[in-house]
Amino acid sequence: MASIKLQEIAHRYPSSDDYALRTLKQTWGDGGAYALLGPSGCGKTTLLNIISGLVRPSEGRVLFDGVDVTDLSTEQRNIAQVFQFPVVYDTMTVAENLAFPLRNRKLAKQEIDLRVADALAMLGLQHRANDRARSLSADDKQKISLGRGLVRTDVEAILFDEPLTVIDPHLKWQLRTELKKIHQRFQHTMIYVTHDQTEALTFADQVIVMYQGAVVQIGTPQQLFESPEHTFVGRFIGSPGMNVLPCNIEGADAVFAGNRIPLQRVISDTGQRYELGVRPEHIQLSASAGIPLNVTSVEDVGRHKIVRGRVEDTLINTIVNDGVGIPENPRIVFDTDKINLYADDYRVGND
Ligand code: ATP
Repeated sequence: MASIKLQEIAHRYPSSDDYALRTLKQTWGDGGAYALLGPSGCGKTTLLNIISGLVRPSEGRVLFDGVDVTDLSTEQRNIAQVFQFPVVYDTMTVAENLAFPLRNRKLAKQEIDLRVADALAMLGLQHRANDRARSLSADDKQKISLGRGLVRTDVEAILFDEPLTVIDPHLKWQLRTELKKIHQRFQHTMIYVTHDQTEALTFADQVIVMYQGAVVQIGTPQQLFESPEHTFVGRFIGSPGMNVLPCNIEGADAVFAGNRIPLQRVISDTGQRYELGVRPEHIQLSASAGIPLNVTSVEDVGRHKIVRGRVEDTLINTIVNDGVGIPENPRIVFDTDKINLYADDYRVGND
């Protein structure tokens, strides 16, 4: 396994005037489980393909354990990659498909048999071991693709590009859990591309959030939830995402829709665009105190209710736990110690 260093990487496809990936300087540790998370078109696949060698960056260098691999092919980089759609040999059996990358590496038959048996058990495909791959469902074919990425233990990194897209929803959870276990067992460097926050947050120790070709935050799921570094991260993570409220700064207070909210610190106002970030989980509804909320809908999603409304023109979502009443004319009260302040979309630190 290798640490991966991206040295001033940037990429512009020849057919485009815009950068698909803006300058990036990152080092990802040996043995880490990383997720690249972001909306469609933000550059996740481009970055993954630069790491695997399928795309050569128009600027910058890629280093594995300090060795420059920018001009090496995927094979030379010794990377396993699992794509969105199954890549299997239809005429081979399931077991032969799994054994194929190991035979190519000329492993001993006994070792191959052991690893294939291990992979079959992990994927729940023991009973299909001797069936031709062509007879399998799309789900099971994708499981083979995953298995082929995972049977090799000598790879520098395993890269996954939205690998669970074709997988049936109830199986996704099971396979994600398996991937996590495999990571804990073998400590491969794993990079997992997805636009699904649940997939990213359950798989990865570190989530790399991308937006418009740039990395906007790298953090643990908890850091992304509690301290989003950019309003985009706050909005993108969570369900519903963070509320973003325009405000002015007056000394140690933020003023939102004519209401003073203590920030417990003085901000020197330099005339930037300020916003408060408040998670729906960190807003209480009150019958007497707080800012009046003009409720537009109440959704019961089972374990809690989502109350949506407006304060002037600003949309505000709150989460009300089961068993907690919703006042007739609710007012909102913020947990002030959980509020983040943003200047021009970037979080203002506490120091
Ligand atoms: P998705 O989740 O939809 O796959 P993504 O985050 O993986 O999106 P990329 O596929 O890396 O994003 O695309 C980033 C940008 O680069 C997009 O604007 C896309 O249109 C553009 N792009 C991707 N591949 C090419 C290509 N081969 N030629 C030209 N532009 C491309």
